[in-house]
Amino acid sequence: MADRPAWLDVVAPSGAVRQRLLAGVIERLQLYLDHRADLPVAPAVDADALRAALAAEDFRDPRPLGELVAAVAVALEHGMVHTGHPRYFGLFNPPSCFPGQVADLITAVINPQLAVWSHAAVPVEIERRVIEEMGDALGLPPPVFGHFTTGGAEANFTALLLALTRAEPRFASEGVRGYAGQPMLYASAESHLAWFKIAHQSGLGRAAVRLVTTDEAGRINPVRLDEAITADRQAGHIPVMIVGTAGTTTAGMIDPLPDIAAVAQAQRLHFHVDAAWGGAAAFSPALHPYLVGIEQADSVTVDAHKWLSVPMGAGMLLCRDADALRETFQVTTGYMPQGSEADDPYCHSLQWSRRFAGLKLYLSLAALGRSGYGEMIDHMTGLAELLRNGLRQRAWTVRNPTPLPVICFTGNRGDDPATVAARLQTAGGAWISAAKYVGRPVLRACITSFETTEDDVMRLLDLLDEARR
Ligand SMILES: *Cc1c(COP(=O)(O)O)cnc(C)c1O
Repeated sequence: MADRPAWLDVVAPSGAVRQRLLAGVIERLQLYLDHRADLPVAPAVDADALRAALAAEDFRDPRPLGELVAAVAVALEHGMVHTGHPRYFGLFNPPSCFPGQVADLITAVINPQLAVWSHAAVPVEIERRVIEEMGDALGLPPPVFGHFTTGGAEANFTALLLALTRAEPRFASEGVRGYAGQPMLYASAESHLAWFKIAHQSGLGRAAVRLVTTDEAGRINPVRLDEAITADRQAGHIPVMIVGTAGTTTAGMIDPLPDIAAVAQAQRLHFHVDAAWGGAAAFSPALHPYLVGIEQADSVTVDAHKWLSVPMGAGMLLCRDADALRETFQVTTGYMPQGSEADDPYCHSLQWSRRFAGLKLYLSLAALGRSGYGEMIDHMTGLAELLRNGLRQRAWTVRNPTPLPVICFTGNRGDDPATVAARLQTAGGAWISAAKYVGRPVLRACITSFETTEDDVMRLLDLLDEARR
C-alpha cells in the first residue's frame, strides 16, 4: 500500500474510491437531467469572467477529481445553451437518449480499438450489423457496406473521395492531376455548405462545388442540374458526383430524389444522398415514402447524433460498392496486424484509431426497436404539426412545405425575424433561431427533443407573441 504512487490513485483509483467517485458523477448527472427543464435554455455568458476563471486554474497544483467534477457541472449548467432542453427549438441538436449515454460510458471505460477486425471482432461486427440495418431501413438493396464517422461532414467527405476514386482510378495516386479536367460536384443552393470545406480538403477547391438553383420551396431543380452538368462538360470540366439532400438543414426540404437519380444515371455520375438528419424518417412508416429515390443512391450519409438522438460523435456512411470504398482507403503497413484487411475499418475509412461510436446506435436501436424509433419520430412530427397550426392561428405564415419537424415562418406585421429571435432568446424561456430560407429571412423552429411536450409548444407560441410586440 505504501508504494502505490499518488498519480496511480488518480488515473486508476482502486475499488471503493472509484465507486464513490462514480456514484458522485452519476448523482450530478441525475440532478442535471431531473432539473434541465427548469434551467434557462440559454444563460447569458460573460466571456471575460469565464476566461479569467479558467486562467486561474493552476495546473501545477492538482485538485481532487470529485471537487473538479462538481465545479465543471456547475459551470456547464450556467455557461452553455442547453440544447437538450425541451424548449430548445434550434438546430438539430437533440438531447442524448439513455441507451446512447450508457453505450458511451461503456465505450469510454472498455475503450476498444476498432482500427482492425482482429483487435475488436465484436465491436467491428456490431457496427457492420447496425450499418446493414440502417441500409435496410432506408430500403437500399443489400449488401450495404460502410462505417461510422464522427458526423455528417466526415461522411460527406468520405462520399466525395469515394466518388472521385470510382470515376478516375488515377485519383488515388495522382490526386486531382489524375483528372483530364476540373472535377465538379453538384448540390442544391439549400444543401449543407460543409461541401465547400470538403471540396477544399479534397484538393478540388471550393469552385468545384456547383450550387444548383432550387424551386421556390428549396428543392433542387433537376432540369437546372442537368443543364449545369452538360454546360460543365462542354467547358472541359469533369462532373463526378451529384448530391441530393433529404432534409435540408434550414427547412427540412427533400430534394426530388427519383429525378436526381435519373440525371445521375443518364450522366453516369455518382449519386450521393445527404440524409444527415432526415434519414431517421426511414423508421416512421408515415414518413418513409417521402424518402423515395434514396434506394437508388450509390452512397448515403445518416447522422445518428441528429434525429436518432444518440450522443454526439456518430455519423454513418453507407455505400453499395464495398470494393470501391476499400480501394479508396486501402493501405498496407509493416506495423498493423495483417490478414483481415477487407474487414478492417482503417482500410475502408478516413479514420485510423477508431472509437466504438456504433455501440450507441446499436443499443438504442436494439432497446427501442425500429417501431419505437418510429413512434418517437412520429411524436415529434405531430408536435411540429401542432406548432404549425398554432402559428397560422396567430397570424404567422409558415413558409416551408415539409413533413419533417422544422418550421420556417414569418410574421405578417413586418416583424424582423432576427429581432424576434433575439428577443425570445434573451427572455430565456425558449430558444429558436433566425435563418435564411430560399433567400428570405425567416424564423426557424425545430422540434429536436423527444422530451418536448404540447405544453412546451403552446409556451413557445405565447413567447413568440410577446417577442413580436
Ligand atoms: C448536420 C448536417 C450535416 C453535417 O453533419 P455533422 O454531423 O454536423 O458533421 C450535413 N448535412 C446535413 C443535411 C446536416 O443537417
